[in-house]
Amino acid sequence: MPNSRKEYFHQFYLKNREKYIEKAKKRREEMKLASKTIPANCFRCQKDFFIKYVPYKKRYSLKNNWDYWTKNEENKEKKICNNCLVDLFKNHREEFKQSIPNLDRQQMLRYYLSEGCL
Ligand SMILES: [Zn+2]
Repeated sequence: MPNSRKEYFHQFYLKNREKYIEKAKKRREEMKLASKTIPANCFRCQKDFFIKYVPYKKRYSLKNNWDYWTKNEENKEKKICNNCLVDLFKNHREEFKQSIPNLDRQQMLRYYLSEGCL
């Protein structure tokens, strides 16, 4: 039955084509989200940088928010670049401990550094 065979493969093709299109669409959306960044200015070194969007968390990265580390409302508008976070941790221990008094956050920053997230 060549006709039904043909039909079967045609259906198979259509089904997979749909799946493929769906996958490609999803990938495109993810790429679009990944390229979504917001420009920011580091309050510490005054340099411009970009805050990345984290697709799997569906929000912008928190690590560049100074109030995230300091847990201080007064720092809500302050942004800090990755270089300064590294510099603070590696070269300015006293400043690091004073500005980030929360031990969980200190540990988190240590973890980010060890994982190469900064
Ligand atoms: Zn900076």
